[in-house]
Amino acid sequence: ASGLMQGKRGVILGVANNRSIAWGIAKACRAQGAEIALTYQGDALKKRVEPLAAELGGLVLGHCDVTDGATIDAVFDAVKEKWGKIDFVVHAIAFADKDELDGRYVDTSPENFSKSMLISCYSLTAIAQRAEKLMTDGGSIITLTYYGAEKWMPHYNVMGVAKAALEASVRYLAADLGEKNIRVNAISAGPIKTLAASGIGDFRYILKWNEYNAPLRRTVTIEEVGDSALYFLSDLSRGVTGEVHHVDSGYHVVGMKNPDAPDI
Ligand code: NAD
Repeated sequence: ASGLMQGKRGVILGVANNRSIAWGIAKACRAQGAEIALTYQGDALKKRVEPLAAELGGLVLGHCDVTDGATIDAVFDAVKEKWGKIDFVVHAIAFADKDELDGRYVDTSPENFSKSMLISCYSLTAIAQRAEKLMTDGGSIITLTYYGAEKWMPHYNVMGVAKAALEASVRYLAADLGEKNIRVNAISAGPIKTLAASGIGDFRYILKWNEYNAPLRRTVTIEEVGDSALYFLSDLSRGVTGEVHHVDSGYHVVGMKNPDAPDI
């Protein structure tokens, strides 16, 4: 076989179901020859993640809730036990209190701010700490971000602030880990209907807006994000780190509404 990911083994965090972006990435990696290991958050997702891992002949490392460092240690200990070293990590985790993904950002509570930042931003750093020890031949780490980090977006609120901090973390982690040939990059995905997205108000409107106004005149799929992730996770991008790459049908270059777009 001559897959781009042949001989590479990696941990993918953030599969909730078969609509997850992390699942699109897992499928793409496997199709190119990678061996993959998944984690799940809580028993409710365990029964969804186990059959998905089996579909790809992958490992299930167990429960990982990034608010509990012991569970992060446990899954990285488990993968060390199985494989000894790893080549890549996919971080596809975010959370904000649904009640505050509505109304005004200015009304964000300190509790929700801290929790959103911990889960959606700091967890990348927590995971990089563990991954560094197992990436003994170098490696590639990616995370998922959104344009709401760069520009105001309706309803995105504290997630926009957390994603901005996440994108800054990518640059700082890239600088720290570069000496060990560990690369850290982010994919800024266009809107996709997933479990996490269902917490965002007017999501249907956001999808339509992108469809009418993005240069490609459509939204993106998890398979397209997965294929783009292959570039970062494989050696094709061996000279690239600290980057935020948009997989959004080109929406991020648009400065004004398409005058030919129908009303939504
Ligand atoms: P998803 O609901 O399928 O995945 C979100 C994952 O985060 C779930 O697997 C969930 O278990 C995990 N998670 C949440 N809190 C956690 C915690 N405390 N510990 C461990 N895991 C936790 O939704 P998705 O849209 O595939 O989200 C994946 C990533 O993509 C997120 O970072 C999201 O912000 C980002 N993203 C999504 C979109 C979109 O439109 N769907 C666009 C750009 C970026």
